[in-house]
Amino acid sequence: MSKKDLGSNAYLDQQRAILNEALTDAGLDTLAVRGGHLRSPEGEHTEAMFMTSSYVFDSAAAAAARFSGENPGNVYSRYTNPTVRYFQERMALLEGGEAAVATASGMSAILSTCMALLKAGDHVVCSRSVFGTTNALFTKYLGKLGIETSFVTLTDLDSWRQALKPQTKLLFLETPSNPLCEVADVPAIAALARAQGAKLVVDNCFCSPALQKPLALGADIIVHSATKYLDGQGRCVGGVVVGAQADMDEVLAFVRTAGPTMSAFNAWVFLKGLETLRLRMDAHCASAQKLAEWLAGQSKIEQVYYAGLPNHPGHALAKQQQRGFGGVLSFKVVGDREAAWRFIDATRIFSITANLGDAKTTIVHPATTTHGRLSAEDKAQAGITENLIRLSVGLEDVNDLIADLARGVDAL
Ligand SMILES: *Cc1c(COP(=O)(O)O)cnc(C)c1O
Repeated sequence: MSKKDLGSNAYLDQQRAILNEALTDAGLDTLAVRGGHLRSPEGEHTEAMFMTSSYVFDSAAAAAARFSGENPGNVYSRYTNPTVRYFQERMALLEGGEAAVATASGMSAILSTCMALLKAGDHVVCSRSVFGTTNALFTKYLGKLGIETSFVTLTDLDSWRQALKPQTKLLFLETPSNPLCEVADVPAIAALARAQGAKLVVDNCFCSPALQKPLALGADIIVHSATKYLDGQGRCVGGVVVGAQADMDEVLAFVRTAGPTMSAFNAWVFLKGLETLRLRMDAHCASAQKLAEWLAGQSKIEQVYYAGLPNHPGHALAKQQQRGFGGVLSFKVVGDREAAWRFIDATRIFSITANLGDAKTTIVHPATTTHGRLSAEDKAQAGITENLIRLSVGLEDVNDLIADLARGVDAL
């Protein structure tokens, strides 16, 4: 969002000045509740939902000045919308970036970043352990446009280094990874990107800014699926990109041209979600830790993957980079696919669904759902075995969640 796209008139300018002064040096919780919200002259207390596709002008001359960019302000909601702008400004504040651009989904946040920053002939290095659809976007669609992607092992710095080419423009990763909670050394990979003149993009979906600040760790751009923890209650699909003003100007230019815009309604829901983000994330982390420890003590559970366990290979790095270990964990049961399915089917509280980052705990069998389209070889490389189960730990009473896990263990 460049300066000329900010809603602007004497009243809003005054509101912005008051807000900016109040939020100087504010903590994360204050930014999550107050950040970005400019009141209209109606004096509403909560953020208003501007359900309007277009905006009117005082005169034909004013319309011309607005369209030409000579005067700042709203023209059409594919370009700017006040509620969407509140969300963008709040996300930029929370992630510590200069600007943010909201998008219709997490996938369109990734697509818009790539379309803004890449061209035919450019090369991308991407972690193998990314969201399955992200992998498909790079391989199938960007590949068709002449943008080649090499996939590397998230935790192996040498594999990142060896994949770099003179035409590498973008490095892309998720940390911690899904579903095995592998942790990337973000500062080290950011240094590789910088030396190459490439940009590091981090998908911060699993931690959210309440637990991890990738820009402070050296990343250039953050993408989010707002669908997950930013909403936190499984209601809306959305995404956001955060980074330097110059990069976000390019991303916004793509979004307003191609149209994967966030709706005002969804932006409003995400603003409400952000107000409780840190409280929710702390509760997700506390319960996930307890469930991981409980599972680790069961003889019918072969292995537990959660960076909060001291024996997890990413434990020390996660402690340095993250404020908490997150709400997602996975585990392998003793047995095969049939045993894993029996475990899942024996639970009563968990929802059997691939969604995550919800107040409701979800359970899924990655090998036949989220990662079902991978070849046997890719599954093996990603550690997705038939006896693996993923949990996204919700906000229910932790004792009830342990009781549900016990039903699964009893079925083994
Ligand atoms: C869900 C998800 C996405 C895609 O987001 P949508 O909002 O579903 O488009 C991207 N990255 C990660 C890590 C995700 O979990």
